[in-house]
Amino acid sequence: MDNIPTSLGSDMHDLLCGLFPICRSITGRGVRETLKIIQGKVPLTTHEVPSGTRCFDWVVPDEWNINDAYVKDKQGRRVIDFNESNLHVVNYSKPFEGELTLEELRERVFTHPHLANAIPYVTSYYKRTWGFCMRQSDFDRLGSGPFKAKIDSTLKPGVLNYGELLIPGETDQEILLASNICHPSMANNELAGPVLLTYLAKWLLESPSRRYSYRILWLPETIGAICYLSKHAEQLREQVIAGYQVVCTGGPGPLAYVQSRNGRALVDRVTTHVLHRFDHQYEIKPFRYRGSDERQWNSPGIDLPIGMLAKSKFEEYPEYHTSLDDLSFVRAEYLQTSFDAYARCLQALERNDYYQMLTPCEPKLDKLGLWNTVGGHTPTHADMTQLLFALIAYCDGEHDLIEIADMHDIPVWDFYPLVDQLVKGGILGASSEPAAA
Ligand SMILES: [Zn+2]
Repeated sequence: MDNIPTSLGSDMHDLLCGLFPICRSITGRGVRETLKIIQGKVPLTTHEVPSGTRCFDWVVPDEWNINDAYVKDKQGRRVIDFNESNLHVVNYSKPFEGELTLEELRERVFTHPHLANAIPYVTSYYKRTWGFCMRQSDFDRLGSGPFKAKIDSTLKPGVLNYGELLIPGETDQEILLASNICHPSMANNELAGPVLLTYLAKWLLESPSRRYSYRILWLPETIGAICYLSKHAEQLREQVIAGYQVVCTGGPGPLAYVQSRNGRALVDRVTTHVLHRFDHQYEIKPFRYRGSDERQWNSPGIDLPIGMLAKSKFEEYPEYHTSLDDLSFVRAEYLQTSFDAYARCLQALERNDYYQMLTPCEPKLDKLGLWNTVGGHTPTHADMTQLLFALIAYCDGEHDLIEIADMHDIPVWDFYPLVDQLVKGGILGASSEPAAA
C-alpha cells in the first residue's frame, strides 16, 4: 500500500457515467445491474435476502421494478417522462393508470421548494403510494387537463441484493468500507461513493501486502446495512478496528469528515490528521452531522468505530437529492482528491503502531547510515534532524505514530521511511498496543 495511484480520476468518472442512467432503488433490477458492472472491476460476491426477512425491527420489503412512467396531456404529449429522467417517478411507486384533472395531478406531483429547474428525488419505500416529481418551471407551464397518467411498475416478493468483498490481510482484524447502491440517476449522492469504493478495493487488491483485512460492502442504504448487521454484528464487533462510510465523494465542495459516535476513535484521529495536512478547507464534524449508514454502524449496541468522509457532503450543497446532482457536478479531479484522502487515511491506519526505543538515549545513527541519508527520502515539512529527534523522543511505547506526528505537526507519511529503517536496524520495536503502564 506504499504507492497511491495519482491518475484514476477519469477511470472513476467513466465508471460513474456508465452507472448513471440505471434506475436504482433499495431492491430490483437496477441494483443487480449496478453490482454486475462493478463486478467487472472487482470480484465482489452478490448476496440475496428474500422479501419478508426480518432484520432487527425491520422487514425486507417487496422488490420494486419499473418499466415506464409518464403523464400525457390532452394532445397526447408526454409532459412527464420517466425516459427523460428516472427521478420523475416517486421511487417505489406502486402501479397506476388513470385520468387526472390538473388539480388531481397537482396532489401527486412533487417539485423542489427552492430550485425551479430541479427535479427533486422522492422515495416512499415503506408506505405504498404513487407519485411524480418534476421541475416547478415545467409544472407552471402545464395546460389544463385532463391528463393521462401511467406508472408501469411492479411490487412483488423478490430479494434485496448487496455486494461484498473480503480482502484478507496479515491479521483477522478488519477495516470496514461501505457505500450505497440505491440511488437512481444522481452523481455525487450517490454514485461517487460506490465508484470510489470500487477503485479503493482494486488498489487494496493490487497492493502486495496488507496488515488488516478489508470488508467492503455495496449496500442499499439503511435497510441494507441493518440487514447486514442483523447477520454479522457480533463478528464485526470482534474484528472491525476502523472504517468509513464512503458517500458523496465527487463534488466540488470541501472534504468533510463526520466522526464516529464517540469522536475519539483511532479512525477519528487518523482522518483529522490526514485532512489537516491535505485540504485547507476541510471540515471535521461531530456525529450529530451523520446522515448515511454511519448511523447504523455506530448505533448503541453495535458501536463500530466508523466515520464518514465526503467531498461535498450530503445536505450541504443545493443540488443534493435533485436532478442537478448530475454528471457535470462530479468531476474526475474531485474523485481523485477523495481517493488520495481515503488512501492516505488507510495507509495511516495500516502504519500506525506504538514504537519503543530498544536502547537508552539517542542511538548512534551514523552506524546505520541514517545520519545523512534516510533511504533517499526527502522530507518536505521538516529537516531530517527534526524528523529523527521528533520520532525518537516519544518512542516510549505509549504514544502511537499518529500522536507523535500530531505533536510535532509533521505529516505522518514523512515518518514512514525513517520508521522502516529504524525498525530494520533494531533501534525501534513496534507493537499494535501501548506498553503496559
Ligand atoms: Zn441520498
